[in-house]
Amino acid sequence: MQQVPLLINGEFIRSQSTHFIEVTNPANNSLIAQAPCATDDELADAVAAAKHAFLSWREVPAPERARVMMSYQQLLKDHHDEIATILSQETGKTLADAKGDVWRGIEVVEQAMNVGSLMMGETAENVARGIDTYSYIQPLGVCLGITPFNFPAMIPLWMFPLAIACGNTFILKPSEQDPLTPMKLAELFMQAGAPKGVLNVIHGGKEQVNKLLAEPEIRAVSFVGSVPVGQHIYKTATDNMKRAQCFAGAKNHSVIMPDANKTQVLNNLVGASVGAAGQRCMAISVAVFVGPAKEWIPELAALIKAVKPGLWDDPNAGFGPLISPQAKQKVLALIQQGKEQGAECLVDGSGFSLPGYEAGNWVGPTVFSNVDESMAIYQQEIFGPVLCCMAVDTLEEAIALVNRNPYGNGTSIFTNSGGAARKYQHEIEVGQVGINVPIPVPLPFFSFTGWKNSFYGDLHAYGKQAIRFYTETKTVTARWFDEEAQAGGTSGKDEP
Ligand code: NAD
Repeated sequence: MQQVPLLINGEFIRSQSTHFIEVTNPANNSLIAQAPCATDDELADAVAAAKHAFLSWREVPAPERARVMMSYQQLLKDHHDEIATILSQETGKTLADAKGDVWRGIEVVEQAMNVGSLMMGETAENVARGIDTYSYIQPLGVCLGITPFNFPAMIPLWMFPLAIACGNTFILKPSEQDPLTPMKLAELFMQAGAPKGVLNVIHGGKEQVNKLLAEPEIRAVSFVGSVPVGQHIYKTATDNMKRAQCFAGAKNHSVIMPDANKTQVLNNLVGASVGAAGQRCMAISVAVFVGPAKEWIPELAALIKAVKPGLWDDPNAGFGPLISPQAKQKVLALIQQGKEQGAECLVDGSGFSLPGYEAGNWVGPTVFSNVDESMAIYQQEIFGPVLCCMAVDTLEEAIALVNRNPYGNGTSIFTNSGGAARKYQHEIEVGQVGINVPIPVPLPFFSFTGWKNSFYGDLHAYGKQAIRFYTETKTVTARWFDEEAQAGGTSGKDEP
């Protein structure tokens, strides 16, 4: 049985732990590998290695650090399909989805290649007579990243390339449910020329995370995962005087105006709701139909019903299984509650199972209509292939509904009215808004800007905000006296 190695101080080592977490194939729950729960000594070694490596890495000029990122980008592109295959096998994602997961991460590495200009400070001459002020952007030190199962390539790549390009060193604690993809990313990062100790990877669960959060040497913590864990990590990290950014759960609404292009709306909603089995923090899980647009719900349900779950290498599969039996149980329980609480189940995927793979974590596409705000399927993040449809009479009602929701990760509006789109983008209390774009994930020269219960912190992931998160600004106020210049014979008076 493959034991997932740790990466400490440039070496891929076999953990001395006696506690393991099983990594399984979600299609049938067969065992793929075992992830060790790193020992206290291994955690301490990772911190010591990162601390030591920081002393020399911070002195490496920005263009040289950028060159490591350039080599890394090339290696990631060369191994794109191989990484996507590992990713598909341990998550169950279709190969097309897995390729997208890797590609969105590569784009962040491309952002990290620009670190030289991103780390330029500001200057102002003569802020007082003969005095100039200028600022430098300097790295923080050792940073920690804790990542979820659902994007095992993209989300680690949101974090360590930018942190390291800024001159920091990094400890990654990837999800214990799919650690093989992040290990491949780490292997390629070492091949790209990263000095030892600059990136370290530790495995385990809550115990390992909590020990790292208590480490005084760790200056900043980036987390992506569920709401309760995000709140716990934000509180613990900040109590321990660390900088923290915690990206959490979501309930994303799409508002459909009756003047929208029906074909575009329906096709977009299918992929945005049940694609990747709904295990995306930007999945559309609530469709809000305004006025007569509600007449489209039966047609949407028929399109979603036609989506077939399947194996990762089946090109006709619309999506794969859920990550674990626990995730499946949670989704099935919510579907059941939806029925009991009076929602109309137009498409019921709770009985679905793939022939030959009955032991897997399968749930078929599911659509509810007549959903209201009191229902569990509306209040909770389902994180499964389940779409809730609601109907309101006006755009104002739709905006009020979305704004009452405690989450604020992403939202979209479908309309042909510039006025309606403008009103929506201005009034909606959600950090990422799509206009006729169902899943508005910003590219890495912007930042990933969830709001409300979808994010705890102030500086967001990637883009300029991540550079600020992973750095300190040092401001210098300088005065040099003319007399000194003249005493040094540099007044220029005698020069031709
Ligand atoms: P999770 O919260 O269960 O786990 C995330 C990480 O935290 C893992 O590395 C895990 O080992 C660690 N962890 C779990 N319990 C812990 C505890 N008690 N103390 C300390 N560490 C702990 O999340 P998940 O199930 O892997 O991922 C799915 C969740 O992530 C969903 O809620 C989804 O919305 C969210 N997510 C959010 C974003 C975003 O950008 N907002 C992106 C992707 C996923």
